[in-house]
Amino acid sequence: MHLFISDLHLSADRPEANERFIGFIEGKARGAEALYVLGDLFESWIGDDDIVERFNAVVAAFFAALARSGTPLYVMHGNRDFLIGERFCRETGAKLLQDPTVADIGGVPTLLMHGDTLCTDDVDYQAWRVQTRNPAAQSKFLSKPLAERRAMTAMIREKSKEVIAGKPAEIMDVNAVAVRDAFRKHGVTRMIHGHTHRPGRHELEVDGRRCERFVLPDWYGRGGYLEIGSGKPRLVAFTA
Ligand code: MN
Repeated sequence: MHLFISDLHLSADRPEANERFIGFIEGKARGAEALYVLGDLFESWIGDDDIVERFNAVVAAFFAALARSGTPLYVMHGNRDFLIGERFCRETGAKLLQDPTVADIGGVPTLLMHGDTLCTDDVDYQAWRVQTRNPAAQSKFLSKPLAERRAMTAMIREKSKEVIAGKPAEIMDVNAVAVRDAFRKHGVTRMIHGHTHRPGRHELEVDGRRCERFVLPDWYGRGGYLEIGSGKPRLVAFTA
């Protein structure tokens, strides 16, 4: 069975999500063929040198134990934790996936994305995304002391909350043309992504081919995952 999660937004101040994470890693994920984390595992990630921070170290240790138990672990950047790098991967045993990636999931070529690149109606966000993915800007940020990075991130977060509150909900969902373009460009009929916090399964036809798009749930709410076993893909929400 292949498992997919995203948008856990783990942080020290959300114990319910952390308990679910631990339960999932030690339960369902053990013995899975692979676990894919499609972005925003963490509420924020200010650099791999912060992996020694108490909370981060605990999460990393659960991942490392899962990888050691024999479940391959794949991690993709989200818009909150795109600074996850080589050290995190080395210490957890995770493999970093490029966004987008086409993976063979039980014989089906499957497009995996975080999902933010599909939200093309949110022009301000896309501009911010380009800025923050700039390698020079990233090295500059990473060269600052941890305390300064933490303070900067908290400030940006507060500002971003205001911006999001002022945005119409539609522009923060995927753009239908961007979705079609992605199916076409990668020649797949199945796509899995997170980011929008609008879990569900969507069917569409692209150039005469039946396509399906799965959107993963966020863990601010109940949380959940997508499983693909021998049968049909299944979106599972955790019970309250
Ligand atoms: Mn996201």
